[in-house]
Amino acid sequence: MTSEMAVTLQTGRGRAKPKEWQKGVVAEIIVETPETNTLRISLPDPLDFLPGQYYNIRIPVEGRPRPIQRAYSVGSSPRPDFSVIDVGIREMPGGLVSPVLVRGIAPGDELEVRGPYGNFTWTEELGGPVLLIGAGSGVVPLMSMIRYQAAVGSSHAMHLLYSSKSHEYVIYGDDLAALESEHDWLSVSHTVTRDPRDSSARYPRRIDKEMVTEVMGESGASRAYICGPPEMVEDAERTLVELGMAPEAVHTEKYD
Ligand SMILES: Cc1cc2nc3c(=O)[nH]c(=O)nc-3n(C[C@H](O)[C@H](O)[C@H](O)COP(=O)(O)OP(=O)(O)OC[C@H]3O[C@@H](n4cnc5c(N)ncnc54)[C@H](O)[C@@H]3O)c2cc1C
Repeated sequence: MTSEMAVTLQTGRGRAKPKEWQKGVVAEIIVETPETNTLRISLPDPLDFLPGQYYNIRIPVEGRPRPIQRAYSVGSSPRPDFSVIDVGIREMPGGLVSPVLVRGIAPGDELEVRGPYGNFTWTEELGGPVLLIGAGSGVVPLMSMIRYQAAVGSSHAMHLLYSSKSHEYVIYGDDLAALESEHDWLSVSHTVTRDPRDSSARYPRRIDKEMVTEVMGESGASRAYICGPPEMVEDAERTLVELGMAPEAVHTEKYD
């Protein structure tokens, strides 16, 4: 895609539009896991976005002179409707923003958001097979790519390697299972780090070199997207390049 096309897609109108803070309305809250909620936010002034991009959200915090902002990836697909975004937020205990977004928001509340941003994106003309590797809430932008491909009806092979603490903490578990059974192009390998007896997961451990090597070989991927904690992202990236994937085909997003 040329940068001009990307801008056109981004605005939907063929001209660049400056990104301003806007007051989205929380239309719905979906409880995904004990620590993660999806906030479905309706935007008054929507910009088209690419699967994998993120929005900034800012909230007032007591004792702070200015609102505090954090980045949250969009988990929904921009097709058919980019005016409503689903952000998946995992509560980080002791954090300034995520506990408020997970526990202190109700449907109908307004939230200040600005976006979209980011180059961690996939669209069908980039092709596949694609290997998606995510840990925890790192699955959010990968889910947007999967949902987008389902929405536009393309069928590049996608394999998702997804690490969670345990079955209970799998974000989008039911949606992923439904999408996997509906679409031949999607396969999912779950790995759980804190419940070695969980027979629904393929692997009972953290994402490691052996696992990445195995799924890379099976998927035949020529392109990869890795998202989650920095250490996992860097290790998986290194492994894929060692295995022969072109460095420019390995895309990463680190949730610092
Ligand atoms: C591009 C991008 C996309 C992202 N997308 C998502 C997403 O889709 N979903 C998602 O859940 N997250 C996402 N994140 C992470 C998110 O932006 C926040 O970093 C996260 O929610 C934590 O923010 P917080 O304000 O709650 O915690 P912070 O206040 O930033 O604190 C983070 C952690 O550090 C600890 N901490 C803070 N200060 C100290 C200190 N002085 N000493 C010791 N510990 C301390 C806190 O207790 C907490 O556990 C994304 C990040 C990036 C960069």
